[in-house]
Amino acid sequence: MSEQRKYYKGSSDGKAPSSADPLEGVAERYDAIVIGSGLGGMTAANVLGKAGRRVLLVEQHYNFGGLATWFKRRGGHVFDISLHGFPIGMKKTCRKYWNSAIADSIVQLDGVRFDNPQFCFDTTFTAQDFAHKLETVFGLERARIDAFFAELRATDFYGDSGETTAAFFERHFPGRNDVHRLLMEPISYANGSTLDDPALSYRIVFGNFMSQGVYTFAGGTDQLVKAMKAELERQGVELRNKVQVEKIRVEGGRVTGIEAHGRFIACDAVVSNASLKGTVLGLVGAEHFTPEFAAGVQSVRLNTSSCQVYLGLAKGESIPFVTDLLFTSTRPTFTSEALCDFDGESRTFSFYYPKTRAGLDRYTIVSSTNARWEDWSKLSDAQYDAAKRRLIETTLLELERYVPGVTHKIEHTEAATPRTFQFYTQAPEGTSFGTKFEGLKYSMNIHDEIRGLFHAGSVGIIMSGWLGAANYGVIVANKCDAWLHALLEVHA
Ligand SMILES: Cc1cc2nc3c(=O)[nH]c(=O)nc-3n(C[C@H](O)[C@H](O)[C@H](O)COP(=O)(O)OP(=O)(O)OC[C@H]3O[C@@H](n4cnc5c(N)ncnc54)[C@H](O)[C@@H]3O)c2cc1C
Repeated sequence: MSEQRKYYKGSSDGKAPSSADPLEGVAERYDAIVIGSGLGGMTAANVLGKAGRRVLLVEQHYNFGGLATWFKRRGGHVFDISLHGFPIGMKKTCRKYWNSAIADSIVQLDGVRFDNPQFCFDTTFTAQDFAHKLETVFGLERARIDAFFAELRATDFYGDSGETTAAFFERHFPGRNDVHRLLMEPISYANGSTLDDPALSYRIVFGNFMSQGVYTFAGGTDQLVKAMKAELERQGVELRNKVQVEKIRVEGGRVTGIEAHGRFIACDAVVSNASLKGTVLGLVGAEHFTPEFAAGVQSVRLNTSSCQVYLGLAKGESIPFVTDLLFTSTRPTFTSEALCDFDGESRTFSFYYPKTRAGLDRYTIVSSTNARWEDWSKLSDAQYDAAKRRLIETTLLELERYVPGVTHKIEHTEAATPRTFQFYTQAPEGTSFGTKFEGLKYSMNIHDEIRGLFHAGSVGIIMSGWLGAANYGVIVANKCDAWLHALLEVHA
């Protein structure tokens, strides 16, 4: 398979081609075209729109949001894919770069619980509560705990020592696998990182969560994306869904436009929210980059993917409040690798009560596990169906431990795997969290290789997750705006 084919999955790969022209009425030229409507792409488009740029945002799926998305099923079920929890920083980002109404809908989760053979408790997921638990549940000395949090607070992006997260933990809490589990497991669920990844990325993400706990968007992802689309339209950004971008055209080392649905649309800048590898090796083509850059991108490792099980309670059924987010495992000890096991024993349950979507008196539960592409991609259709059924059954059994009798109240069950995530987002190997740390420098420096080309998709662990992706969209939009400004000065 050619590199372009490998990283670009056109409509012939399973989706029915749309008969209407999704690009009908678009202009011949824009200041900037944003490819992809993930939180990074939408935020970048909004910042550029606010800056007065003429922007076109194109998305291949019919929904906007990328992984920040939802789906509906018969019987009134609405399932959120990645609305589990993010740091308070998202509120500030939304207030500054979206609007107050969006920011004001961001609320703290009422409950976070751990339950595994090493420990079981409810937590506010703040530094204060973690410090308390480390002292009272794990029996650690206060001085040791304070030293850990002091180092966490002093994290400096530019002072990376190259230490791994495992080494960082071992330095502070030697031989304490239970403590390592407490500190690592939720972060692995949030961004796919492992003990072998750089401590720097762990410290930034964990530090963000520790400031004030875990937050969510009241109203559900559908309401968030609706509000974001309305704001984009207010800023004059033109939005088009069902647009499969096939190529970013480059001439003389500079972006000239995009190709989609047999059309060329000119622009001075492209912000790609598609995957880093898909952008460089597929949409642009390795031949347009220096050999070192292209080879570097080729060698960037992807993060792992996910499996999810969606469980919808029948109308009129209810469950008592358990918690909002439940990190559960039956594994006696913690290893990063085991979180991705095919028949895994560790998962996160997200409980969505009627408070999530006020007015819709419904309950849904979503189970998420980290997963490896290679475990799922090699299965035959029959094996794949059987594996999904087994995943649903084992998930229900596990859920029964916390909500006895719930199975009888559940009307809709459905599973998603790395194959599902690849199909819907076109992310290579269905990666849920972009690339490993080394991808960051290629994403950030892409404009040095091709003028007018920018990348704002999940990379480097730090620029991933709801907050990381949205903040990266802002950073990249500002760079793109500076480029557009410089162009105007040249033409003046
Ligand atoms: C199961 C799961 C659970 C998660 N839980 C959490 C959580 O609890 N907290 C948290 O903070 N984060 C969570 N995340 C991660 C978070 O959802 C993502 O990191 C974030 O949404 C990614 O945003 P993004 O901007 O990188 O783009 P993406 O969401 O990857 O979107 C990219 C978009 O580009 C589009 N696209 C790609 N190629 C093309 C093309 N050629 N033409 C047109 N469009 C194209 C895709 O269709 C997609 O819409 C979770 C993710 C998963 C999968």
